[in-house]
Amino acid sequence: MAQKRDYYEVLGVSKTATEDEIKKAYRQIAIKYHPDRNPGDKQAEEKFKEAAEAYNVLHDPQKRQQYDQFGFAGPMGGGGFDGFGGASMNMDDIFSMFGDIFGGRGFGGFSGRAGRPQQHRGSDLRLKVRLSLQEVNQGVVKKFKVRKDITCQHCHGTGAEAGTGSETCPTCHGSGVITHTTQSIFGMMQTQGVCPTCHGEGHVIKNKCHECGGTGVVKGEEVVEIKIPAGVAEGMVVNVPGKGNAGHRGGINGDIQVFIEEEDNDTFVRDGNDLIYNLLLDFPTAALGGEVDIPTIEGTTLKVKIENGTQPGKTLRLRGKGLPAVQGYGSGKGDLVVNISVYIPKALSKEEKKVIETFKDSDNFKGDRQTKESIFQRFKNYFS
Ligand SMILES: [Zn+2]
Ligand SMILES: [Zn+2]
Repeated sequence: MAQKRDYYEVLGVSKTATEDEIKKAYRQIAIKYHPDRNPGDKQAEEKFKEAAEAYNVLHDPQKRQQYDQFGFAGPMGGGGFDGFGGASMNMDDIFSMFGDIFGGRGFGGFSGRAGRPQQHRGSDLRLKVRLSLQEVNQGVVKKFKVRKDITCQHCHGTGAEAGTGSETCPTCHGSGVITHTTQSIFGMMQTQGVCPTCHGEGHVIKNKCHECGGTGVVKGEEVVEIKIPAGVAEGMVVNVPGKGNAGHRGGINGDIQVFIEEEDNDTFVRDGNDLIYNLLLDFPTAALGGEVDIPTIEGTTLKVKIENGTQPGKTLRLRGKGLPAVQGYGSGKGDLVVNISVYIPKALSKEEKKVIETFKDSDNFKGDRQTKESIFQRFKNYFS
């Protein structure tokens, strides 16, 4: 696969571009490289498609947010974003997209494309998935049994009873659009609308399939495997192209959008890609120094050195032992942050009491005195 260019770069807009700026930028490129203007020019066609794909993602707030979070590679692993554009977007999809930016179907000025029969895209499905922190760390493949519209096997999605087929729509004669001519203050105005008889398809079914009633889809179930990349977080959405409801009468499938939720973890608290571990250190180790075992998200433990005189509230940062960044976006792994507090026993044996009481009058154990002395020391150092 050729290296893909950043969508913002393709449209020549900044990452903070408004919807309007994106639309404008796309319109300019689309007009310049439109195949009707550049017949037989492969390079222009590629540019045209590239811009359409970029626009398709960036003008949709959800897809844009996802692209910002995941980059190209994100949701589906390698090349996952293809589903938004290149791979599943054919020229028909691209032309049908013009509808919302050029205020009509196709280009007014470019003949031949206007009135292209409309495709029925299946609707998107939404799922929620709750992930453990371990699953977030490693990425996971989840299987879902999804109830959805699937292609009718009886008519193979055509909507027509076997052997009957369809005929050209008598209302629009196959164009899918009808033209109204109205008198206005500007003179005669022509407006185009979707044909009410065939709903833009250009043809009507002679004999509707008895299984699906002519829609080409029936209710069914499918087991869908969804790959959740490592590093996702609560609130993110993973888009699975083409796994949503089947489109009516051979239209393209919708997507499945998977909303990520996170389970709480008993051991770690997540902070972005960092993990926080609260270590309750025993008093002797805090005072004398030593070594402790710190659990990791991988299920292993790390030996970490504790210096003598470690104070409660101290934090240790174990670099790269946190969560991975979502594939293709950001870099490196987060850290494991160890917050240290010191455990003071709640009950003491007689012997313990005796030993600790011997420390009571020791200057080393007097916190306020330590502080005063160290301030005095600093003061002295400042002037010496
Ligand atoms: Zn059918
Ligand atoms: Zn029609």
